[in-house]
Amino acid sequence: MKCSIRGAITVDSNTREDILLNTRTLLKEIINSNNIELDSITSILFTATRDLDAAYPAVAARELGIVNASLMCAQEMYVRDSLGMCIRVQVEVETGRTQRDMNFVYLKDAVKLRPDIAGRGKNIAVAIDGPAGSGKSTVARELAAELGFIYVDTGAMYRSIGYKCLENDVDTANEETVAELAEKINMEICYIEGKQRIFADAVDITDSIRTQEVADAASAVAKIPDVRRILVKLQREIAKNNNVIMDGRDIGSNVLPDAQVKVYLDADVAERAKRRCGELAQKGVEADFYKVLDEIMARDKQDKERKVNPLVIAEDATIIDTTDMKIVQVKQEIAELIREAML
Ligand code: C5P
Repeated sequence: MKCSIRGAITVDSNTREDILLNTRTLLKEIINSNNIELDSITSILFTATRDLDAAYPAVAARELGIVNASLMCAQEMYVRDSLGMCIRVQVEVETGRTQRDMNFVYLKDAVKLRPDIAGRGKNIAVAIDGPAGSGKSTVARELAAELGFIYVDTGAMYRSIGYKCLENDVDTANEETVAELAEKINMEICYIEGKQRIFADAVDITDSIRTQEVADAASAVAKIPDVRRILVKLQREIAKNNNVIMDGRDIGSNVLPDAQVKVYLDADVAERAKRRCGELAQKGVEADFYKVLDEIMARDKQDKERKVNPLVIAEDATIIDTTDMKIVQVKQEIAELIREAML
């Protein structure tokens, strides 16, 4: 059967060397991830954006030993504000498989062209852990939106259970009653315009769970093994079928131990308290810095010292100290790790 495989890659400079090197990388990845024989390639259409004129990308195919296929290079249609320095290919193959089995390959900045399918067959999981106020959620949410991944805010899940305890006057220290409640809650996570919304028993509680009282209740219920078992199962199910950026405390160490990218974000505790006060000020709430500092330190202690799945740095995590960094710098660093994982 005839199948088509699409792919794209960006190059760093308009030089012959760079164009050929990156085209070879793209073709090799298409060949490897689809397990195809060179002889089964019947033709390849290459396009390059108009800012690339130092070489014909087709030369790279001949260099790789693709000798029988017919090759054609064309200039990509110019679209204002579109991705530049980009080479696209359409590889036609004769295989015993169907079109649905083919893995498309988008590398480097070209991931942006098809974030929905980039890394398909691999299912990319990015785990971001760290203490409260380290910048996890902002970075994870924005990166997920840029890459077309699903952002899973696991803290919101623990908060939902804490919230339901407060609503139902359930003592968060009573493990049995909290576990019973957690089992009964019908928690639904849905993604509206890429944003996670969380429903408990059909009520949208996304905004109501953002109080300090709920954060403390969340940290208390997060110690209960049954609560963790229920939520971790849900988290793994979401990651099974989607490219995800998941943030929390135990994602790299426990929920997704095979995540291709693991990051531990940290920041000085005073800086974290300052950020929290800033967030509250934006909402029109005046907060006492020392009170916020105390609350953060208490939560850190509780999260790090609990017996089940405490906040730890996964062995293979990249540690980023965000104390003196801007969000955009942190995002850049993690985006680079994701790109490497997708190669
Ligand atoms: O991140 P966020 O502040 O929303 O998390 C609320 C609380 O939920 C944390 O303090 C922590 O106790 C708990 N949590 C957890 N494991 C996760 C995510 C959050 O124990 N994966």
